[in-house]
Amino acid sequence: MSPRRSRVLLPALLIAWVAPACTTLSLQEEEELGRQLEREVRTQFRFVRDRVVNDYISDLGDRLLDAAGPQPFEYRFYVIEDDEINAFAMPAGAIYIHTETILRSRNLSELAGVIAHEIGHVAHRHIAENYNRARTVGMAQQAAVLGTAVAAGGAAAGAANILGGLSATAYINSFGRDAERESDAFAVDILPKAGIDPDGTVTFFQTMLHEGGGGAVPAFLSSHPATEERLADARAMIEAAELPPGLRSEDGGKLEIIQRRIRLLTGRDRRAPRTRR
Ligand SMILES: [Zn+2]
Repeated sequence: MSPRRSRVLLPALLIAWVAPACTTLSLQEEEELGRQLEREVRTQFRFVRDRVVNDYISDLGDRLLDAAGPQPFEYRFYVIEDDEINAFAMPAGAIYIHTETILRSRNLSELAGVIAHEIGHVAHRHIAENYNRARTVGMAQQAAVLGTAVAAGGAAAGAANILGGLSATAYINSFGRDAERESDAFAVDILPKAGIDPDGTVTFFQTMLHEGGGGAVPAFLSSHPATEERLADARAMIEAAELPPGLRSEDGGKLEIIQRRIRLLTGRDRRAPRTRR
């Protein structure tokens, strides 16, 4: 088969493969899709390449996964340089955290809460569910465009790729009340098992809600709707949980070091330059 023909055929195959509506993706299909979307996301965002920052987030993610027990997927954690508070997941366990989310976390408990919540969406297969939904309501075209663009490769994809890809990315990361509750419950369950106080799941959202009141709603809230009811539910879950003693909200200043490093790396360190004489 000539390369030209294979390039046409592959997207067609992919669309045919995603076409059966309302069927749940198998774990294998989700993994395959996840790998393709991961490549796509890589072309559309600016990633932090700093090893210290990446290791910190990956170690925290792994610590949460150890607490969660066996998982259907191998998770990967990435840091995206972006001054909007957000975090999202892709099928089969790629988790993306914006730098602003790290900077605005007041302690380890809050940051771990956000990451645990995202892991929860993947572990409960909400991402796969949303992908299926995208194919059956209105977003089918974007899902197809995304599939086509991914199959054709980054360079060949062009503008349609970015439009289709980003809106589909946003779509498969928008969750309803039940999914949010399930992910919150997941976070409240695994944080204490990792030795971390689960209270940050609530306090981070409180901060977000206060911010949203004044004007633009942070991206994280528009894709993970937080209502007073949801906060009350999460608080009730924490109160009902039998928390072991000795849970920690801090990690001995490590988060603060990472935050300072991110500010320096991204030019967000606005302190006046030191004069040297
Ligand atoms: Zn969510």
